[in-house]
Amino acid sequence: MSATWPPRYDPAWRPAPDAEHWAPGLECAEPKKRDEVVLAKLRAQVQYAWERSPFYRRRWEAAGVSPARLRTLADLAKFPVVQKADLRAAQAAAPPFGDYLCIEPREVARIHGTSGTTGHPTVFGVGRDDWERIGEAHARVLWGAGLRPDDRVLIASFFSLYLGSWGALKGCERLGATVFPFGAGLPGQTLMAVQWAREMSATAFYGTPSYALHFAETARREGIEPRDFGFRTLFFSGEPGAGVAATKRLIEATFGGACIDMGSMAEMTPWMTNGECRRRTGMHLWQDIVYTQVCDPETFAPVPYGGEGTPVYTHLERTSQPMIRLVSGDLARWTDEPCPCGRTYPRLPGGLYGRIDDMFIVRGENIYPSAIEDTLRAIEGFGGEFRVIISRREAMDELLVRAEYAASHAADAPRAALAARMRERLRARLGVTPRIELVAAGELPRTEFKAKRVIDDRDLYKKGVANV
Ligand SMILES: [Zn+2]
Repeated sequence: MSATWPPRYDPAWRPAPDAEHWAPGLECAEPKKRDEVVLAKLRAQVQYAWERSPFYRRRWEAAGVSPARLRTLADLAKFPVVQKADLRAAQAAAPPFGDYLCIEPREVARIHGTSGTTGHPTVFGVGRDDWERIGEAHARVLWGAGLRPDDRVLIASFFSLYLGSWGALKGCERLGATVFPFGAGLPGQTLMAVQWAREMSATAFYGTPSYALHFAETARREGIEPRDFGFRTLFFSGEPGAGVAATKRLIEATFGGACIDMGSMAEMTPWMTNGECRRRTGMHLWQDIVYTQVCDPETFAPVPYGGEGTPVYTHLERTSQPMIRLVSGDLARWTDEPCPCGRTYPRLPGGLYGRIDDMFIVRGENIYPSAIEDTLRAIEGFGGEFRVIISRREAMDELLVRAEYAASHAADAPRAALAARMRERLRARLGVTPRIELVAAGELPRTEFKAKRVIDDRDLYKKGVANV
């Protein structure tokens, strides 16, 4: 059990290149044994927030809890959860960082934020020591994903206030790999990235799953077969795709490397503490860095292993803006079944496959966009991109799936057969029969970041705007 909190790590230490684990004493520990370490860190983290954050003290006093009430890990469930809206309100009342900043503002080493595309952006202030610990945590998880110091990593995502790219960069640097922070988002940049990836002989790729597929299409247009890049590892965050079985298979078939799913939330950085190992059995929850419980979305009590709920995250070594019981709003099922890698962390076998608020209901069926993606990607002849449009033309909801067909299915007969197959497989999976509209491959816009594939027209209809 560690006596000092927050922990300090030797920035020069690394495992031997052939070691499978960075910290086997924690990663492969008997879970009850590791829980003692987790509890000690948790108690120190909670005590720290109590002393330094009016935000937590106010909320915990109102709920009748205090650090003294935290005697076991189960006691954590007595502490109130934090929602993103609570953070936004705290920042509006105490700008810019909110009264959950537990260090002096001048000790903030990095300012990041949400993109702010929906609602008011949230500001992240990361202390210098925290940033080093984030690098340590990410290096450890990346090691588990199979990255080694001789890797050369192409980081193909935005370098902006977005924390994802910087977190990947920091982890790769700490691990000792060669990092190639290419970025994304500028006109013509994907084509340049394709050329540079080849010339620099990159061995690993970081970005979003949709961007990786866009990258592959761009390469093929240039006459480059994506397998020829030689990416051994492709790791992802920002979208659920890398945890969607069919998308994972597609990425691996396209590039010939391992597709690794990662990512919790920017607020929870080190966000790689949801992170798959090389065996790719679903993201492990690296419980001694961030303590995660999959909880009932209404009561926020942890659900038993095997159950479905929303991950609720708690930092264990964060001094700047610690998050204690932050609700993700994502959906996941968790399990404690063993993984062949030897790590004893719980896992999310299907990744984060939806969001509580992404789910839409059509004719009484709960539908997740990831289920549609998974189904389409398993169908031969699917052209790679799709949109979902939900409308209410008459009294009934209508589900329209606009999907691309591959060039191999362009003739009338194969196209009709493809549409029928999509309709049937989606009906079997969703419980609702969709209308299928096929368009040629490449016709639907690709995004370089998070794909937005669902359009719900029913609200417009209700307001009388969609006057059709
Ligand atoms: Zn594993």
